[in-house]
Amino acid sequence: MRKETKAIHAAMEVANNNPDIVPPVHRSTVYELDKKGRTEGDWHYTRLENPNRVQWEQVLKVMEEGKAAAAFSSGVAAASAVFRALEPDDHIIIPEDVYAGNRKLVNKLMKPWGLQADFIDMTDLQNIADHINKDTKLIWVETPSNPLMSIMDIEAISELAHDNGAIACVDNTWPTPINQMPLKLGADLVVHSTTKYFGGHSDILGGAVIAKEQDERFEKIRLVQRVGGAVPSPDDCWMLARSTRTLPYRMKGHNENATTLARFLQNHPKVEKVFYPGLGTHAGHEIADKQMSGFGGMISFLIDGTADEAIDIVGQSKLIGRATSLGGVESTWEHRRSSEGEGSITPENLIRISVGLEHADDLLEDLEQALSDE
Ligand SMILES: *Cc1c(COP(=O)(O)O)cnc(C)c1O
Repeated sequence: MRKETKAIHAAMEVANNNPDIVPPVHRSTVYELDKKGRTEGDWHYTRLENPNRVQWEQVLKVMEEGKAAAAFSSGVAAASAVFRALEPDDHIIIPEDVYAGNRKLVNKLMKPWGLQADFIDMTDLQNIADHINKDTKLIWVETPSNPLMSIMDIEAISELAHDNGAIACVDNTWPTPINQMPLKLGADLVVHSTTKYFGGHSDILGGAVIAKEQDERFEKIRLVQRVGGAVPSPDDCWMLARSTRTLPYRMKGHNENATTLARFLQNHPKVEKVFYPGLGTHAGHEIADKQMSGFGGMISFLIDGTADEAIDIVGQSKLIGRATSLGGVESTWEHRRSSEGEGSITPENLIRISVGLEHADDLLEDLEQALSDE
């Protein structure tokens, strides 16, 4: 089946013992046991397993074409589980422009725990190879990166990882499985902040790990989920499975609107540079074109001016909301460096837009007036 069909039907493939067309929400935290006591495989206690989470994990697994999935209460909880499934003293390679929250997670929590990490430019394969050492167990990929949209070659990096006894894990939050399928390109793990496009309406926090194999490593991630306890509620799982039914069509709209806006910005005199992987002028366009089936809803651009001018432009929008985060049906934008705060390496004249699903002409009119000098 194709993605549009799978997105609609996957949740009902498991934990479905009744005639519902859509799943009910199971809020009970405990389940009645058999008279003889607990038997393996029974529902027991909701932190360990519940029908809504099992259904949501089925959706994730089916959409990413993995063998197993674990849902978490946030994207950073999912990333944290991947790192904690390693051993202290293991070494990881991670992009220098990785999502700021994951940089903080590695520096403030995982390094004190014992993890070794090198934050490097990962657009250059040789540079990655040069940083691999005998303890390197994982290469973290985020492509397109945030907010500079640099493109990393998932297939080549996965191969390099495997040649050196490591695995590749791809943060696929921005592209979603509609635009990019990392496991099919050779990656071992995919992580998501499902807060973004999976949720799609800026009203649910969530994260996920999807694995190519249900192996020992995945079982360790499952252990971190159940015993670490950063699990999503049944309501959140239900909402996420519901939102995913429209994900393929929402992504088509995000791709289309972002392409229109990126072209407009590229020709605007106030704009110095546009970062969008769909543009032929983008440094990573060739690789993006090879590994993505759509270029996503995120655009960054540098204005021809200072940080204050960038903040002023953001302040002039009437339709585009001033907010961080991304992936909602409504368009939002922000002066990214202010948002990232301490340690940010983002250029100070950079504005990041999450292009929503409004009519493109309305968005263009708002951009036009916000960028004008009046
Ligand atoms: C938002 C985001 C995360 C973190 O997810 P939370 O749900 O906020 O914890 C991780 N990676 C990327 C690329 C993100 O955009």
